[in-house]
Amino acid sequence: MIENIVQTYRMKQEKPLCAYIYDLSKLRSHVEALLTTLPENCQLFYAIKANSDETLLKTLAPHVSGFEVASLGEIEKVRSVDQHIPILFGGPGKTYEEIDMAIHHGVTLLHVESFHELNVVNHIAKQREVSVSILLRVNLRRSVPNAKLKMAGVPTQFGIDEKEIPKAISLVNPMPNINLCGFHFHAMSNNIDAMSHAYFVDHCFALSRAWENEFNLDISYMNVGGGIGINYLDIHDQFNWEEFMLVLHKIIEKNKDKNWQILFECGRYITSSCGYYATEVLDIKQNHEQYFCVLRGGSHHLRLPAAWKQNHPFTVVPVEKWSYSFERPELVNTNITVAGELCTPNDVLARDVNITRLRVGDILLFSYAGAYGWSISHHDFLSHPHPDRFYLDQNLQENELLIIKEIRNSFQ
Ligand SMILES: *Cc1c(COP(=O)(O)O)cnc(C)c1O
Repeated sequence: MIENIVQTYRMKQEKPLCAYIYDLSKLRSHVEALLTTLPENCQLFYAIKANSDETLLKTLAPHVSGFEVASLGEIEKVRSVDQHIPILFGGPGKTYEEIDMAIHHGVTLLHVESFHELNVVNHIAKQREVSVSILLRVNLRRSVPNAKLKMAGVPTQFGIDEKEIPKAISLVNPMPNINLCGFHFHAMSNNIDAMSHAYFVDHCFALSRAWENEFNLDISYMNVGGGIGINYLDIHDQFNWEEFMLVLHKIIEKNKDKNWQILFECGRYITSSCGYYATEVLDIKQNHEQYFCVLRGGSHHLRLPAAWKQNHPFTVVPVEKWSYSFERPELVNTNITVAGELCTPNDVLARDVNITRLRVGDILLFSYAGAYGWSISHHDFLSHPHPDRFYLDQNLQENELLIIKEIRNSFQ
């Protein structure tokens, strides 16, 4: 259906198409499906750094338990969408002003990432004469195998070393303005293995239980972070959510003597699949025995495949429109490398991919582009125009022009 919309839209336009397209209906139903399968004492937050687009935040706000943020800018984005929705505030480098403003904006939990930060939070809480609820962010000694980016198990700048947690607890205990509510364990990114994710949650339970018992704490929350991944290399073999839920229910059953709320703060897994990046083939050529197509767009809009040096999944949307009398460049059943319009050989979105047919003027529709796409890209390198931004919503479905709701002005 999205292919048809893109095609129809392109037929009516003069300029080459280049757009991010967000399917809000798909986003809603995806989140609802996650929420209905999560055990009762679990809460799903959205980590907005994956994509902080205002329309997506507005769409998600009525469904998720709240938002996870890592800067004052993100807190302000959330507050401009919803004055009261719960916020979890983490991040390794919080300034005095950020912590102070986070408290002012009423964040629900502050994730403390170091001893020094603990002292700063305590200092501000005393000045303000308030009690601040915190989780200690743990930098685990063990890592989760096969995750793409590891924040734990290897030395990183995040959180407090697992070994130092007892010391942090003894530092917190005498602080009257700090309320230690539990532990935070975001430890990886893009894990696509459900069993290892369940194993990780089990491990978080074991540590939290041990600390609670040993130090006689009264924990309310265990935050197991985000990190559930997308398989970009084989889109038909995704993280097995059903399997994860099956095992998660068992793990929670095993720990039901603890009356904790389990927090998930997923980014990629929530918004990746609702986003598409559609852009037009400007040129096709052969250099050094290899075929290339060049797009109106590239890594300045979708940096993820270049950053991770992997292919991004796409389909070809054929466009019949051809306005010239001269020959339309075309390739049939060939391997091509998909390059962007930037003047750097790093501007590649996929290499050596087989296509059955591709012509100049056809559109490549990249899927799973809703997370870490636009938000992590260097938009103004080379000063090409930014992509348009479209939102699809079944509620608007009267005719195709209505389905495509173009919100150009809010796009910066
Ligand atoms: C980035 C981040 C997330 C979200 O990560 P995903 O891999 O997108 O799920 C959650 N928590 C913290 C602390 C993060 O830094």
